[in-house]
Amino acid sequence: MSAVLKGADVVKEMNEAMMAQLAARAAAGQDAPKLAIVRVGKRADDLAYERGAVKRFANIGLRTEVYAYPADIRQEDFLAAFRQINDDPDIHGILVFRPLAPQIDDQLVIEAINPGKDVDGISPVNMAKIFAGDSSGFAPCTAAAVMAILDHAGISLKGKRVAVVGRSLVVGKPLSMLLLARDATVTLCHSKTLDLPALCRESDILVACVGKAKLLGAEYIRPGAVVVDVGINVDEEGGLWGDVDFAAAESIAGAITPVPGGVGTVTTSILARQLMKAADIAGHQQGINGALMRY
Ligand code: NAP
Repeated sequence: MSAVLKGADVVKEMNEAMMAQLAARAAAGQDAPKLAIVRVGKRADDLAYERGAVKRFANIGLRTEVYAYPADIRQEDFLAAFRQINDDPDIHGILVFRPLAPQIDDQLVIEAINPGKDVDGISPVNMAKIFAGDSSGFAPCTAAAVMAILDHAGISLKGKRVAVVGRSLVVGKPLSMLLLARDATVTLCHSKTLDLPALCRESDILVACVGKAKLLGAEYIRPGAVVVDVGINVDEEGGLWGDVDFAAAESIAGAITPVPGGVGTVTTSILARQLMKAADIAGHQQGINGALMRY
């Protein structure tokens, strides 16, 4: 029977650390960092995520403000409003729900977002930093959540063989770079990979970010391997399933994340942690600018 790596345990540790940092900030007379949540229209999944994020951030002691625009807002009006959010010194981080709306080119927003406030890791600047191994950047939250789960479980990555199945720009690719930066030997797999089961079976750590319910069964898992399941697949009855066949994998893997209750649980805390980092970097930069002005 494998150990189940629960997201809630990671969240508890991260949130406690952030609350201690916020108490220190408050004692120094600093406001809590603030996240701007930017939404166009009222898509049900955006609203659900928004409600969860607002509540969880408030529980930690972080500020949020929702900027909601009508579904038919003109692109130029949206971009003008977005620029104001981007330039507001009281906003330390920005989360934009995408796709925005058919009349708005998401790419314009991805390119416009201030990389220093891009706590969701969508800007090409932050992507480049992740690929360059520059830790001042912001990784996409899901990729960072996988790293947080492995770290919390004390799983060493140095020299380990890791198979990442799925090469999207939001999960698989940045995650491979984060793993590589920690000296893992990474194989990035995709739909054209030949003999995927054998390749996965050679791996000490298997990360599934495919988007196909229960695709990875027993024949993909090396006995004792660590299995991290990023997949969130909803069936016709509304049930949630990972990309790994949990029932088959559980008796083979050394440790495994559940779905739900695994990676997905950790992403909001990663967003919060990245907001704290953005505020710290902005505060540090203000201090440097102030010192230069005095000089
Ligand atoms: P995506 O953009 O659709 O990418 C899927 C990747 O899987 C692609 O690289 C694709 O290969 C590969 N793939 C598809 N079928 C395959 C197969 N049979 N064998 C091997 N590789 C295969 O998906 P995504 O946005 O990365 O999301 C992946 C999963 O993670 C989804 O279930 C999504 O819901 C979930 N997710 C979870 C969170 C979270 O917070 N837990 C966040 C984001 C996403 P090609 O490149 O060759 O097409």
